[in-house]
Amino acid sequence: MNGSMEAPAARLDLEAVPLEVLWNAPIGIALVDRELQLVRFNRALAGLHGLRTRAWPGIRLADVLPPGEATRDILWRIEQVLATGQPLSRIELEWGRVSCHPLHDGGRVVGLCLYLEEVPEPRFAHEALQVSEERLRMSLASAAIGTWDYNPATGEFLCDDRAKELFGASPDFRMDCETFHSIIHPEDKERTQQVIQRAQRPESGGGYSIEYRVIGIQDGVERWLSAQGRAWFDEQGQFRRFSGTVLDITQRKRAEASARFLSEASRLLAGRLDRAEEILERVARLAASSICTYCIIGVSRADGRLPRVAAAHREPSKELLVQEARRFVPRTQGTSPLLDGVHTGRSALIREFTLDVRQRYAVSSEHLAVMNTLDAHSVMTVPMRAGGKVHGMMILAACGPQRRFDEEDLALAEELAARVGMALENLRLYEEARQAVGLRDEFLSVASHELKTPLTSLKLQHALIGKFLTPECRASVGARLPKAVSQVERLSSLVDSLLDVSRISAGRLGLEPVEMELTHLLREVMERLSEVFAQAGCGVDFPATPPVHGYWDPLRLDQVLVNLLSNAAKYGAGKPIHVRVQVEGGQARLTVEDEGIGIAPGDVPRLFSRFGRAVSERHYGGLGLGLFISKQIVEAMEGSIRVESQPERGSTFTVELPLKTARE
Ligand code: ADP
Repeated sequence: MNGSMEAPAARLDLEAVPLEVLWNAPIGIALVDRELQLVRFNRALAGLHGLRTRAWPGIRLADVLPPGEATRDILWRIEQVLATGQPLSRIELEWGRVSCHPLHDGGRVVGLCLYLEEVPEPRFAHEALQVSEERLRMSLASAAIGTWDYNPATGEFLCDDRAKELFGASPDFRMDCETFHSIIHPEDKERTQQVIQRAQRPESGGGYSIEYRVIGIQDGVERWLSAQGRAWFDEQGQFRRFSGTVLDITQRKRAEASARFLSEASRLLAGRLDRAEEILERVARLAASSICTYCIIGVSRADGRLPRVAAAHREPSKELLVQEARRFVPRTQGTSPLLDGVHTGRSALIREFTLDVRQRYAVSSEHLAVMNTLDAHSVMTVPMRAGGKVHGMMILAACGPQRRFDEEDLALAEELAARVGMALENLRLYEEARQAVGLRDEFLSVASHELKTPLTSLKLQHALIGKFLTPECRASVGARLPKAVSQVERLSSLVDSLLDVSRISAGRLGLEPVEMELTHLLREVMERLSEVFAQAGCGVDFPATPPVHGYWDPLRLDQVLVNLLSNAAKYGAGKPIHVRVQVEGGQARLTVEDEGIGIAPGDVPRLFSRFGRAVSERHYGGLGLGLFISKQIVEAMEGSIRVESQPERGSTFTVELPLKTARE
């Protein structure tokens, strides 16, 4: 060893470190004492971008480094270097790297030498880009989004695996622009190509967003895609690049289409349809136009047969053929999912309607021939159930070479069949109710006519008995005969009401209008009802009124007045009744106002209908026919009737009649 050489310094004087040696070093160098305060530092350190403050001697290292979690961590590690004397090498920070070496004085660590190295910008940016690309890739993958990129200069069409999958191709498939255009569904092709072409013109801004169907390149599966894309242009406005994403929205589109289909079906079923065949014909047509290629519907008959009553095909040219197929009806159970469905109420999904299967279900060779010409590839048979019974079966068939029904299609078909079943059940109940109402009306008409004859003779007998009674007999009979007469009167007025109702139902409420005066008739009726008012404890207030002439049926009008006035006495007992007649706007207006029990607002609408009552029969008798008949009479005279009422305050019935003359 050369003796002139100095032995390594046994002692390091921090103040004496020759800084000029370090001054021009390309990395930042700093000496810090045990309190982590800067003692010396070089020019490079002063220029480091990562540092928060301009460094100067005496400032604490903690104040120089940028604040944050990473800095707290690094300060802790630097303190460990002070404590352990173990150096720390190359810790990565956001803006650079830090290394730290202990400076010893004898066995003691008296300070630290820090090397701070800024990471060159480009590398950092590149890494950041890689990270963000990776993040983007991960989020695209988790959202099941495919990406693609097209370079018009080279014709290169790059798709990631997911995009290829959505285009129905395997990962090793080489995609090109022509193939892409060829798989767009024919119905969406023009629209999609227009959007793509528009995006390739710089004035469009380059962006596009569209939903379209594709038919898978290799798997032939139809998918709905939502595509977002952007075209890129150079400074001269030349189209340079096209890139974007595709997302499978088939499920959403299917759900939307199902909801649309069912609401359309419900709208159709809610229409006024009197014949089951008409409902079924429309349903078959709707199904064939959207969820299947053809649809045949059979209805269960009481004898177990299942005649096909409706059929429809999407293609008009095949319509005849599908109508022809209606003829073939399976007869033996166990040979057809249709007949089995009627008995078990279960639906069947024949995903692959192969030649074998067709052979098994065909009822004759002729049937098989029709089946083969119709050429369904997938079939569903679904029962139309409701009210605990199977009303019939629907056959839905798909003829597209790639189209196969799945569980979702079956669920939709079952929902449709259930709604149709419900409509058929409603129709059946409606028919039953209509027949029952018809029978009731017929019974009312016959019974009231039959009752009328003995009642008329009873009235005559009463009159004769009254006439021929000797004074002695009259005294012993007392009030009994008048009571019997009044009961027969009551009975005959009830029978008259029933007769009127049956006349109204049959549209035979004939009117016999004459020139007449209303106030006179009103006074006459009030006179006749004076006994009724007296018994009810009702005073009637009817001020002097000028005569009101019109061309009305006096007998029928009499009936209306009796009804309104006797109701006022019945439901307003003990309180006054106010009667008014006015003339206004070419109308005679009659009001009958009582201060009685009134009518709850919810009851008002049905009072004028047949048997419409708002009181319990325990408290008030009556058939609930008077107002119904009154309304029919008033309307037959082109007038109107209404009521305003408040419970416990009273009711006001108003009748308006046109002031016509015989010549009008
Ligand atoms: P009825 O009186 O024989 O039951 P109506 O057809 O004349 O039949 O009346 C129908 C229903 O209207 C009655 O049951 C009663 O609930 C209600 N109503 C009619 N007039 C009045 C009235 N003046 N005040 C309160 N309720 C009335």
